[in-house]
Amino acid sequence: MLRKLLLRTSAARRSLSGAGASGSRVLPDRRPSPSLSPSPRGPASRFYASASSQVPGGTFVEHVDDGGADGPTSRPSAAISVDRSALCNPPEHSHEPTADSELVKHLKGIIKFRGGPISVAEYMEEVLTNPKAGFYINRDVFGMEGDFITSPEVSQMFGEMIGVWTMCMWEQMGQPSKVNLVELGPGRGTLMADLLRGTSKFKHFTEALHIHMVECSPTLRKLQHSNLKCIEGENVSQDVGHRTISTLAGTPVMWHAALEQVPSGLPTIIIAHEFYDALPIHQFQRASRGWCEKMVDIQEDSSFRFVLSPQPTPANLYLMKRFQWATDEEIEKLNHIEICPTAMDLTQTIAKRISSDGGGALIIDYGQNGVISDSLQAIRKHKFVDILDDPGSADLSAYVDFAAVKHSAEEASEDVSVHGPITQCQFLGALGINFRVEALLQNCTDEQAESLRAGYWQLVGEGEAPFWEGPDEQVPIGMGTRYLVTAIVNKKQGAPIPFS
Ligand code: SAH
Repeated sequence: MLRKLLLRTSAARRSLSGAGASGSRVLPDRRPSPSLSPSPRGPASRFYASASSQVPGGTFVEHVDDGGADGPTSRPSAAISVDRSALCNPPEHSHEPTADSELVKHLKGIIKFRGGPISVAEYMEEVLTNPKAGFYINRDVFGMEGDFITSPEVSQMFGEMIGVWTMCMWEQMGQPSKVNLVELGPGRGTLMADLLRGTSKFKHFTEALHIHMVECSPTLRKLQHSNLKCIEGENVSQDVGHRTISTLAGTPVMWHAALEQVPSGLPTIIIAHEFYDALPIHQFQRASRGWCEKMVDIQEDSSFRFVLSPQPTPANLYLMKRFQWATDEEIEKLNHIEICPTAMDLTQTIAKRISSDGGGALIIDYGQNGVISDSLQAIRKHKFVDILDDPGSADLSAYVDFAAVKHSAEEASEDVSVHGPITQCQFLGALGINFRVEALLQNCTDEQAESLRAGYWQLVGEGEAPFWEGPDEQVPIGMGTRYLVTAIVNKKQGAPIPFS
């Protein structure tokens, strides 16, 4: 996942975090900020070498033995030989396992009980969110000590800019006196905390907010509670029970396991940053007998392996649906494709909610505006690893198919319009991140200034920062064009900024 490459400069945010609880972690100085239209110089970076591939850390299926064009179709699942030479980092296998982990036992149990392999989607879902042993469930996976770092953790400016967008959206909605602000997959809660700190002076806005955090991990819920500086309030009514209030802006906060559980009836703004990439994807491989789903099975030595389904699976229906949104040319070029039915369904839920309650949703992630071929990757401790190695100990993520998001939303409701995707660089630039960085640079220490510039570059730059004078291994890598932003809004409000 691209976000993990950010680690090299993740010190940026950490060194600013001591600047006080007043909101701004950064204090003033007077230095030029890097240009908003970054033009990377110098030799092609290691980043480009890895990011240019559709297979950033994943497997490349080189050969499928499916029996040939006239071969038997009733064979058991055919094996795929996997070439891992395209990995950007050598795969870091865990030490020889002494015993299977709880999650591995669980996965093997499912495969044995079913009497056959499971889809990559089911594997991914179990690995990430199994309630007992999923990757996200029992620990804080973010930052230097964790497995990867995300934009809100890189710089406070990210959450602040999302705050600007949210306030503008609320104004376009006619400044409703109550608004649901929903975040899907809030991680440590850093984005929401920066959003609240950044907007806390605008009382009309913050007093309207009802925050809803959609989070499956009990560990991360606790961290979010702490980072939002929540306190438990008085019982408001027997139905609602006690209230949790974020003292950052005096706003009520509730937690839910899914968007469907967020109470409807209020105008709603939804933020999904790096949530879609964690949703389970199905992978299909073109074989002589047609499109076959890639599945996860157990081999003789008891390790996992990929196989192809001998006949169509239920996910084929979604594949057909995805193909309807693609051109023949696009499909002809493909030998491998990823589809994300969960993302399609979630987008429909979002579109219907926005349609009935009013408001808008903002989706930010890495991906592309079209069919995704083969992007699934596993990352542990900031390194790409084998997808099937020690499941539950590494993050799994895949590129987001923004074209499918758009089609899903439009299909779900005629009352919503979809805008973008545009690049994160365009989005943050139009919202004024360069003014914000200038303001923060007005009065800060040299160390803070360096961190600010590094963080700024990571959010809006492309490739290695040309201004970097520090150690090579810490050069900030810009992801301003790798991340895309799309908005789904109720048509009543017109086009949202900065898509208008
Ligand atoms: N938005 C955050 C975190 C991204 S990581 C950031 O940018 O820093 C993905 C987040 O989504 C984590 O908080 C994870 O626990 C949560 N998550 C993943 N799958 C989920 C699911 N199916 N339901 C609810 N939360 C989920």
